[in-house]
Amino acid sequence: GYQRVLEENRKLYNQVQDLKGNIRVYCRVRPLVPGHSNTSVDHIDERTISILTHSKYGKEAKKSFTFNKIFGPSVTQAEVFSDTQPLIRSVLDGYNVCIFAYGQTGSGKTHTMTGPKELTEEGLGVNYRALADLFHLSKERKETISYEISVQMLEIYNEQVKDLLSADEIRNSSQNGINVPDANLVRVSSPSDVINLMDLGHKNRSVCSTALNDRSSRSHSCLTVHVQGKDLTSGNILRGSMHLVDLAGSERVDKSEVTGDRLKEAQHINKSLSALGDVISSLASRSSHVPYRNSKLTQLLQDSLGGQAKTLMFVHIAPEYEALGETLSTLKFAERVATVELGAAKVNKDSGEVKELKEQIASLKAALARKG
Ligand code: ADP
Ligand code: MG
Repeated sequence: GYQRVLEENRKLYNQVQDLKGNIRVYCRVRPLVPGHSNTSVDHIDERTISILTHSKYGKEAKKSFTFNKIFGPSVTQAEVFSDTQPLIRSVLDGYNVCIFAYGQTGSGKTHTMTGPKELTEEGLGVNYRALADLFHLSKERKETISYEISVQMLEIYNEQVKDLLSADEIRNSSQNGINVPDANLVRVSSPSDVINLMDLGHKNRSVCSTALNDRSSRSHSCLTVHVQGKDLTSGNILRGSMHLVDLAGSERVDKSEVTGDRLKEAQHINKSLSALGDVISSLASRSSHVPYRNSKLTQLLQDSLGGQAKTLMFVHIAPEYEALGETLSTLKFAERVATVELGAAKVNKDSGEVKELKEQIASLKAALARKG
C-alpha cells in the first residue's frame, strides 16, 4: 500500500543519488609558509588548479587538474565546513559517510580536520563543527526523531588498530567493517563532550609516539560517529555513521635512505594509501570487484565506502615550490579517484539511467498524489 510506495520512492531516489556519484574530491591549498615566496601554484579557480612544473628542458610548463571544488589559501574553516555540511547532515538521515584528509606531511590535513594547535573558535576544524552541527540538527528534529550519537576514536599504525579512547590494542577489529566491537564507543551529547574526548584521544596518541618519530604523521587517525535515530511515531530505527579520517602523510620515503622501523612504517603507509586509492577508484568506476581486503584501513571502512555511502576526499597542497614533486603526486592520486566521475563517457552512460529513474520517481509521485 501507501507505505510500500513511499519506500519504493526512497529506494529510487537513492539510486538516482548513487548514479550521480557519491565520491567528491575537494582540493585545499594552504597558505605559503612565511618567508617563502616561490610557489608551484599558478592559478586557482572554483574547480581547477594549475601547477607550474618544468619540462625536461628546464622550460616552464603548466598542468591543470579539475576537482569538485578548490579552496584557496584564504578560505576559512567555516567556509570549508559549509561546503561539507550537507554531506555531514545526511548521517542523520541514515547514510554512511567517509571524509578523508589526504596530503603530504605539513600540507594541512590536521588543520582541516581538527584545526591549528592553538584552537580558537574560528580555527575549529571539520570534526568539531560536524559534531556540533549534528547536535544542533538532532535538537531541531527532537519532536519527530530521538537521536543517540556516539563516537569512537581509532588509530591505524603499521596495520594495527589502536583504540585512542582507551589506549588498548584492538584484536577483534576487521570482522564487520564499521563496527569495531572491542573499541570504546562513547555516547556524546554536547560539543564539550566531544572536545574532552578528542583531548583524551590526542593524549593517548602522543603517549604512543617515540621521541624520534612524529607518529601522528605516520599513522591514520579516525573519528567515527555512530548515529541512531528512533522515529517517535513509527518506532522505526535508522542508523548512520561517519568516519572522519586524518590519513598518514602521503610523501614518498626514499627507500635508499631509510631502514628498519622507518622503512616498515613507510611500506605500511604506501600499502594502505594505495589500497585506499584502489578502492575509491574502483568504486568510482563501478567495478564489480572492490579490493577492500588489501589493507586494515579499507577493511575497517568497508561498510562505509561504496553502496549508498558517500565519500569526500580533501586533498591538501603545500604550495611551496620545493614541494612540487609531492604536489604533483598528490594531485595525480586525487585525479585518479575523481577522474571517472568527471569523465564525459561515464556521465553520458549514466544520464540515460538517471533519466529513466527520474521518470519512474515522477510516476510514483503521481501515484502517491492520487492516493493522498
Ligand atoms: P598535516 O596534518 O598535513 O601534517 P598540519 O595541518 O599540521 O599539516 O599543517 C601544517 C602547518 O600549517 C600547521 O602549523 C597548520 O596550522 C598550518 N596550516 C595548514 N593549513 C592551513 C590553512 N589553511 N590556514 C592557515 N594555516 C594552515
Ligand atoms: Mg597532521
